[in-house]
Amino acid sequence: MELTRQYAIDLDHSDPLKFFKNRFSANDPDLIYVDGNSLGRLPLDSIARAEKIVKEQWGTNLIRSWGEDWYDAPIRIGDKIAHLIGASQGEVAVSDSTTINLYKLTMAALMMNAPRRKVITDDLNFPSDLYMLQGCNYFLGNRQNIHIVHSKDGISIPAEKIIEQIDDDTSLITLSQVVFKSGYKYDVELITKAAHEKGAFVLWDLSHSVGSTEIKLNEWNVDFAVGCTYKYLNGGPGSPAFLYVRDDLQESALPPVWGWWGDTNPFSFELRFRPANNIRRFLTGTPPVLSLATMEVGIDLTLEAGMPALVDKSKKLSDYMLFLVENRLKKHGFTVGSPTDPNTRGSHISLKHSEGYRINRSLIEDFNVIPDFREPDNLRMGLTPLYTSFTDVWECVDRIERVMSGKTYTKFPVDRLIVT
Ligand SMILES: *Cc1c(COP(=O)(O)O)cnc(C)c1O
Repeated sequence: MELTRQYAIDLDHSDPLKFFKNRFSANDPDLIYVDGNSLGRLPLDSIARAEKIVKEQWGTNLIRSWGEDWYDAPIRIGDKIAHLIGASQGEVAVSDSTTINLYKLTMAALMMNAPRRKVITDDLNFPSDLYMLQGCNYFLGNRQNIHIVHSKDGISIPAEKIIEQIDDDTSLITLSQVVFKSGYKYDVELITKAAHEKGAFVLWDLSHSVGSTEIKLNEWNVDFAVGCTYKYLNGGPGSPAFLYVRDDLQESALPPVWGWWGDTNPFSFELRFRPANNIRRFLTGTPPVLSLATMEVGIDLTLEAGMPALVDKSKKLSDYMLFLVENRLKKHGFTVGSPTDPNTRGSHISLKHSEGYRINRSLIEDFNVIPDFREPDNLRMGLTPLYTSFTDVWECVDRIERVMSGKTYTKFPVDRLIVT
């Protein structure tokens, strides 16, 4: 690899996914957007789709649209997502937020594995994932033993450290495949196999991996999974999440929220809940149709590019960024807060710097670069293979170096803004 800008331009030239960048809105061509792991960019086709759904379907067709297009959307889109995560048709549904889906599947798993009491997770997990477990435990009479495995370096946890905690009392192991701060990626297959040997279930959160990382839920024999669609899938702000329940578990797994959308026939208006005998039982109520519509566009784009090409480009982008960081940013006091082995890494790179917060502000306000900042010292750079170019990566590192050499961050206060 080389340090010149021309080298990045050459990499872009030979990138088989290079034309996908033009399928996304880019009103500000100078902007370097490396926060697609928090909120993906707007696909241009989503604009037309939103207009159609509002003007034609809602505006003209009104309630008739439920039968024509909307009612099936949670399962139709779920079946598309299945292709991205190595699942089968009928195993994935779109509904609610990631947190709520975690709650639904956690309660289902705990119920199926009662009276076991131990739940294993880690301290690299997303806060909501941990709050949700605490909430489940509270409403189950504090009878669960939530075991949080701690990371020594704040970056990773060897799979063995999780596996050695699994015992005959363990009902569930729930982790993020790719952790949100460091981008560390677990070996899902290994941990899932170890869990099954002890009769425990696994619930994987794919929020930070779907759309950029290889996922083979069926091949790895995963029981339950959830994920987010507004990150690498570019579904739009607040687009609903998805949930996966392996086919053979669908008849025994019960949702904790019994809503009319989960009934065998919602439009029979029976007063006694009869859970649908398929993934539909995990739906709750009326889905957010406008968000579903824009989200489908993001998923179609991802399918069009194909996961193998996306995974390949993601690795190349992050290897390239690490090369530039090593040669241009280490001397300014940055350390890498992500695994260096591409096989244990998702699609974002964390840089640690004691001035990370102010550097992030200067990048946004002075240099038109949008990464994000995660306490205490992580500057996160999300590399979305669909639209991040190698030149974007080069520009990003170049502008960070300019922040450092010009010390432009020093004019910002150290006090945090509410949203970082
Ligand atoms: C983004 C993310 C979430 C978001 O949860 P919502 O309920 O959809 O807001 C949850 N877990 C992880 C690991 C995430 O990365």
